[in-house]
Amino acid sequence: MKIELAENYGFCFGVKRAIKIAEENKNSSTYGPLIHNSKEIARLDADYKVGLVEDFKTFKPGDKAIVRTHGIVKEELAALHKSGIDVIDATCPFVTKPQEIAQEMSEAGYDVIIFGDEAHPEIKGVKSYATHGAIVVTNVFDLLELKLHEKIALIAQTTRKVEDYMEIANYLIPRHKEVRVFNTICNATFENQEAVRTISKKADVMIIIGGKNSSNTKQLSSISHDYCANSHHIEDENDLDYSWFKDKEFCGISAGASTPDWIIQNVIDSIKKSVN
Ligand code: SF4
Repeated sequence: MKIELAENYGFCFGVKRAIKIAEENKNSSTYGPLIHNSKEIARLDADYKVGLVEDFKTFKPGDKAIVRTHGIVKEELAALHKSGIDVIDATCPFVTKPQEIAQEMSEAGYDVIIFGDEAHPEIKGVKSYATHGAIVVTNVFDLLELKLHEKIALIAQTTRKVEDYMEIANYLIPRHKEVRVFNTICNATFENQEAVRTISKKADVMIIIGGKNSSNTKQLSSISHDYCANSHHIEDENDLDYSWFKDKEFCGISAGASTPDWIIQNVIDSIKKSVN
């Protein structure tokens, strides 16, 4: 069986940057998981003494707090700054951008609509920047009952599928006087999604590696399923079921933006061993 990696996969610019920041700040703690990959977080803890704090109120003056890649809620960031904590911001610049847009558009009188997952830390953060509030939607049906004003600003979670975002925009544009659609889907997401689309069309089995709570990995898995019915989302080699590869000729591999190379390599090595 041939095993091939997608042309673009794995660590994105924002995650590489956040990990570098964490490695440069030993004996610190991230507020919430730095990235959506528990194995990499465990490595940072073991090798760099970068811990994990789930409640920002537990930071004490003098502590070093690293703001996670997905950003945090505006009020919590302000509270950290105020309480004498050394705040190191590892928010990805592609996440800072929609935060700024949310604030600017909200203050300019636009109804801010965010296409994304309300429970995701990135969206909680972006929403908190909309001074007069924002509405989070996951599909067109969520828009049907809304009473919106004439001016709408539309923002997407950075990891969303562009086709799904277009559906929301296409619904809103003919119904409102002014709809400002911001392309806040990040390039890394586009590239990884395009590459998984290409490879899954020719694969008879696809393996998508990444955290089960990683939004961009879930999107990759969804695209892969569109083109290859035998697509499997795994966190690491322990999730592999070797029967997936029986009588298969082409195994495509991709990985989410927070999946480190060493996990990808372990998966490839395990698949190779099983088919030989
Ligand atoms: S996927 Fe994009 S937005 Fe998210 S951390 Fe990576 S570069 Fe930043």
